[in-house]
Amino acid sequence: MDVELITVGDELLLGFTIDTNAAHLARELAAIGIGIRRRGTVGDVAEDIATAVREALDRTGAVITTGGLGPTSDDLTKPSIAAIFGRGMRRDEEHVAWMEQRWQQRFGRKMPESNRAQAMLPEGARKLTNNHGSAPGIWLEDDRGRWVAMLPGVPREMRGMLADTLLPILQQRVSRDGHPTVVRSRTLRTTGVAESLLADQIDPIRESLGPISLAYLPAPDGVDLRLTIRGVDAARADGILDAASSVIRDRLGRSIYAEGSTDLAEVVLDRCRALHLTIAVAESCTGGLLGARLTAIPGSSDVVLGGIIAYANDVKRDLLGVDQQQLDAHGAVSEEVVRQMAEGARARLGASIGIGITGIAGPGGGTPEKPVGTVWVALAHEQETRALQLRLIGDRDEVRRRATQSVLELVRRTLSEKD
Ligand code: ATP
Ligand code: MG
Repeated sequence: MDVELITVGDELLLGFTIDTNAAHLARELAAIGIGIRRRGTVGDVAEDIATAVREALDRTGAVITTGGLGPTSDDLTKPSIAAIFGRGMRRDEEHVAWMEQRWQQRFGRKMPESNRAQAMLPEGARKLTNNHGSAPGIWLEDDRGRWVAMLPGVPREMRGMLADTLLPILQQRVSRDGHPTVVRSRTLRTTGVAESLLADQIDPIRESLGPISLAYLPAPDGVDLRLTIRGVDAARADGILDAASSVIRDRLGRSIYAEGSTDLAEVVLDRCRALHLTIAVAESCTGGLLGARLTAIPGSSDVVLGGIIAYANDVKRDLLGVDQQQLDAHGAVSEEVVRQMAEGARARLGASIGIGITGIAGPGGGTPEKPVGTVWVALAHEQETRALQLRLIGDRDEVRRRATQSVLELVRRTLSEKD
């Protein structure tokens, strides 16, 4: 089965909001064997929505829209599409009662009058349950079996409705239509190794990976390897991906830190937990970014003790015990200082591991000897302190992100020697 996607909203067209709904839908549909024939975006203009949906119905006969279901006057999706199907609009009193009750329960007050518009449904429509909001989704089908499914624009509501309600309906149709084939992907994550170096290692074994396509996806956190298989049934797809990823894992060894979308911070925390180690951080140019990344992982409290944002030299000296003479002699961005930062965090917070980061994130502050992107990171543990100088590329955000990723990788590599 093929479908077309149409996302609705001026903010998407103008580029103020990134169209994450289309990407999410594409991935989820592919996983159950539904192909995306075409994707489009239109603004909040009734005529444009109608034209896009009419053309898509003529081509493909199956359309999913997101956005424009809300209670405000810029939400035009429902009436525009109802008109294509020659249907009028009627108020679903049952839904009005449900919304009124929900407002009382949730917010303890009367529902605003404008929310009533959310209960206006095209005649003959099937409601798609929304467990995360008040606007129902809508399924509209004509007597030739051509259909449109309208989902909310709010990404969390859209994802919920897709998983809870629409995917089961589509899955049923797909299996009714015969043997479903799927598109499945697996991601192997690497960091600190150039894309071209990875390619050099993988090229000689490329043939042995089977009928997969392999994409190298570089980003500030590193290069993800995405393996994709299409056109086979789900069980066979998983088998082929298992085999191919184990060949790549054998080849690249420790360069792969995780699968899927797992953050390196999570890998480091798991490793620390297994070894009963705790972490304290001392951050200058990253201003708490490393602490934020670590504590974003649920359950981090049994590993992370805390940290010090030591931005000013006085703070490095007074709270971390960095030697003023070293600061004067070598500057804040130096091996001597980063070592003392890591050791100071470890000692003062009583952690097994101390991590230090100091650097020049830019755009200003660079010199010929220490250009923007120069970052020193260090790891102090019981046996030793390791320091590493990085020359990072990118703007301020990227330098800061790359610095946290690099030091996490330093910790991971150091701990993996403890096997
Ligand atoms: P509401 O009931 O809140 O009005 P809606 O179904 O009418 O929801 P929209 O008004 O189109 O949806 O969008 C609601 C919010 O969701 C907006 O903040 C918008 O930026 C965001 N949004 C809409 N479509 C997308 C999309 N395709 N990708 C990511 N975000 C989106
Ligand atoms: Mg809206």
